[in-house]
Amino acid sequence: MMDDPRADGQAGDSRAGLCAACAHVRIVATDRGGRFYLCHLSVTDPRFPRYPTIPVLSCPGYRPPDPQP
Ligand code: SF4
Repeated sequence: MMDDPRADGQAGDSRAGLCAACAHVRIVATDRGGRFYLCHLSVTDPRFPRYPTIPVLSCPGYRPPDPQP
């Protein structure tokens, strides 16, 4: 049951590749259940698209998220 991506949001996120767990991402959810991955580096660096094509498997801007307190 937990293998079903609809039952576990984390499994769905894994399809985004690195963006799903990057410090520079903002995940935008739509009312239709879709999600977009907005890359904040795109604001200052034209190498990065605003909405990267997922899955992103390799990215020079990737940074792991800051640890939770
Ligand atoms: S820096 Fe790379 S991995 Fe991070 S959100 Fe932007 S495109 Fe995705």
